[in-house]
Amino acid sequence: MKIIVLKFGGTSVGSVDRIKNVSNIIISYIKKKYRVIVATSAMSGVTNELVKKSEQISSNFTPEEYDVLVSTGEQISCSLIAGRLNHLGYKSRSWLGWQVPILTTGNYSSSRIKNIYKKDIVKYLKLGGIPIIAGFQGINFQNRITTIGRGGTDSSAIMLARFFKAEKCIIYTDVDGVYTTDPNKIKKAKKIKIISYEEMLEMSSLGAKVMQPHSIQDARLNRIDIEVRSSFKKIKGTTITKRKNIINNKIIRGVSFTNNDAKITLIGVKDKPGVAASIFEPLYKNSINVDMVVQNISSNGKETDLTFTIKSDDLIKTEKLIKKNKKIIFKKIIVDNKVSKVSIIGVGMITTPGVTFRMFNALAKKNINIIVISTSEIKISVLVNRKDLNKAISVLHKEFNLEN
Ligand code: ADP
Ligand code: ASP
Ligand code: MG
Repeated sequence: MKIIVLKFGGTSVGSVDRIKNVSNIIISYIKKKYRVIVATSAMSGVTNELVKKSEQISSNFTPEEYDVLVSTGEQISCSLIAGRLNHLGYKSRSWLGWQVPILTTGNYSSSRIKNIYKKDIVKYLKLGGIPIIAGFQGINFQNRITTIGRGGTDSSAIMLARFFKAEKCIIYTDVDGVYTTDPNKIKKAKKIKIISYEEMLEMSSLGAKVMQPHSIQDARLNRIDIEVRSSFKKIKGTTITKRKNIINNKIIRGVSFTNNDAKITLIGVKDKPGVAASIFEPLYKNSINVDMVVQNISSNGKETDLTFTIKSDDLIKTEKLIKKNKKIIFKKIIVDNKVSKVSIIGVGMITTPGVTFRMFNALAKKNINIIVISTSEIKISVLVNRKDLNKAISVLHKEFNLEN
């Protein structure tokens, strides 16, 4: 069987007309003799509305009920697609996560897919049916409904491709591929024809929403090639694949950014072994993710200043935890909710000296102050004031020749 997995994102199924459009896309693959498995997101905006409702009901909405609630959007869209295909004379039906079943492990709202039971779907495919599977959801060992993180239908699609040994996995979205930076923000962004898993993983982890980071990890582990393309335009998209398949002379592939960061600085922290661990322990215990960290040594050697970043949503909680932490002594706490992280990504930087200098120099020339820096083998991130964000993305995009 020549199997293909097609994923449709929220905007692609955002209205009745768009659902009619994706049904035609599905049929075009049936006509090319593929057995098609579809993974669908909720109609755009629906999941956000559900999240809002949970917050209005309770500030302590339980994780179990949260997953039951927010997974319902996908039930609507998968049924509408199947219904449209039926209307056009095709055999199709919807499948919710628990019906497949798609087995997950881990915490509610950030579970990971562990296993997908294939039997019923294989039987259905052999009978010429088109299964439309609700993305983003699964069921755990306690027999309860789970979700796999916002944007998770990307992961659902990759895992379906893995378990059904699909020839291809195509992610249909509202842009016609992966760009050098967000094309909805920077007009000069250029489409990337082919990109490695490693670079894509960094790009999405550092803010490029076009693919969910976990899905890229899953694709890399299982060697699944992905094509990202538009459900609105019939043009070739971007291939995400292993590094060996790529000949590329660009040092930097893309610029990613986030604009929901916050920064906390502790001034005059009593410096003794274990102090950093004491600061971060309660944050870790409350599932607050610390991103960038920088520590300065003070002139007297007894005190230090420590700066770190977190998501702005976690700011109030973090501030409270720090203030009531009896294990640390400090003089002052400064919080700043108006910072953004800008990152350049590319495997080329492993073998090319001077990338750091070029980045810092380009930002300096535009008077952009760097607050914190963090690096890995294939990326350099800097924290800047949010007012400088657009300028920083543009200048780095130009500096590393991404405009042509
Ligand atoms: P879907 O609903 O199809 O899953 P998303 O909204 O999750 O779509 O992702 C698509 C969006 O990702 C685009 O509309 C675009 O604004 C944003 N985006 C951010 N960075 C990039 C990038 N480097 N390339 C393409 N799109 C990007
Ligand atoms: N509907 C979910 C979300 O909005 C999952 C997805 O779209 O992939 O996060
Ligand atoms: Mg998405």
